[in-house]
Amino acid sequence: MRAEAGKRIYSATDLVNYLGCTHATFNDLRQLVHPVVFPEDDEQAKLLQEKGIEHEKAYLARLRKEGRTVAEITSEGSLGDRVAATHKAMQAGADVVYQGALYGSPWHGFSDFLLRINGTASRLGDYAYDVADTKLARTAKPKHVIQLCVYADLLGAAQGVEPPQLHVVLGDGRMASLRTSNVRHYYGVARGRFETFVGTPPAASVAEPCGHCTFCRWSDTCTAEWEANDHLSLAASIHRSQMDKLRANGITTVRQLAMMPATARIPNLQADTLSRLRAQAALQIARRDTGKNQHEILPPSPGRGFERLPKPDPGDLFFDMEGDPLYEMGLEYLFGLVHDDGGQEKFTAFWAHMPRNIEFLYSRNRLNVAISRARCLSVAFASPRLLEVPCNTIEQMQLVNTLCWAKSYSDAYTASRGVI
Ligand code: SF4
Repeated sequence: MRAEAGKRIYSATDLVNYLGCTHATFNDLRQLVHPVVFPEDDEQAKLLQEKGIEHEKAYLARLRKEGRTVAEITSEGSLGDRVAATHKAMQAGADVVYQGALYGSPWHGFSDFLLRINGTASRLGDYAYDVADTKLARTAKPKHVIQLCVYADLLGAAQGVEPPQLHVVLGDGRMASLRTSNVRHYYGVARGRFETFVGTPPAASVAEPCGHCTFCRWSDTCTAEWEANDHLSLAASIHRSQMDKLRANGITTVRQLAMMPATARIPNLQADTLSRLRAQAALQIARRDTGKNQHEILPPSPGRGFERLPKPDPGDLFFDMEGDPLYEMGLEYLFGLVHDDGGQEKFTAFWAHMPRNIEFLYSRNRLNVAISRARCLSVAFASPRLLEVPCNTIEQMQLVNTLCWAKSYSDAYTASRGVI
């Protein structure tokens, strides 16, 4: 969000952030009055940005190659200039408007692409535009859809008809499309809540860790607050509901949790759960006070955790499958195998050198190496997505079938023996 000529202007990111955490919006509003300088993006964030721009340019090149006329809206000039240039390009009937600027007070947005659709009557004529954004992700996510809804809302006002579809051009080049009417109402309610919040913001707000923190530009600020206040979330493995129950009973810091008498009880919190949380907090406080790490060895619990694993055997193999989603077109088949080699752990790497080289992954010989050498247990770590690879040939189906068989076998085994 930003302030221009005394008026606030909001963006799709503001709405996405609000839906992730209202405290982020509270901070955003405060920052309009008390500006904050944020640290520079780290290397990972820069790499993601570069990859995002590459992906966007690749899609633009694809549209041009298909012979579509493209009107590119320059990023120079005021918002008003860019919006006017976008409307002009739409009126001229360009097949694609790249970096179109959209505005309808108090919202604005810059859609990656506006795609012309013929046969839909609009204020422009017998055609209209849909919105499309490029994303590196492999599947469309709700936050992408919310962003597109903001653009669709603004575009609908500009062309006099709601864009029929929202499109996400995914990192692997596929397009995920959604009917605007299927999410219109959800978006309307969300936008209304946001506008109410920013219209009458609360006088105070407290940061609570949540799933949005990983993506939030306020994470350094909030982390510093939590450390200064000895926030309960600093206790390892504590859950939100547990914090709520502790707070309701006057326990608001990790130190207070650590100092609770062993006989103390918290309503609706199991005694052994409280005991575990208290012991964990005590270890952390001891580390804080003495500078030395402390640990406590818990007694084995029959039938739980590592107790459910078979006894170690020299023939055990630990097989790992990794991927690099940022590699061009994605690289999914980076295998590693650890086995005992005369008393030493030996790591063997099997790396695919071609993206999407499923023959490598599903090679019967390599699977045979991974599975058949185990004398007692073979542990495989893998994404379930590996079982969902689209097959273009019968041969590929047969190869994938081998891994599916291993998964079915493993499922049947765990069902009969209990899940570890
Ligand atoms: S870091 Fe987490 S708690 Fe803080 S504003 Fe962001 S999402 Fe909210």
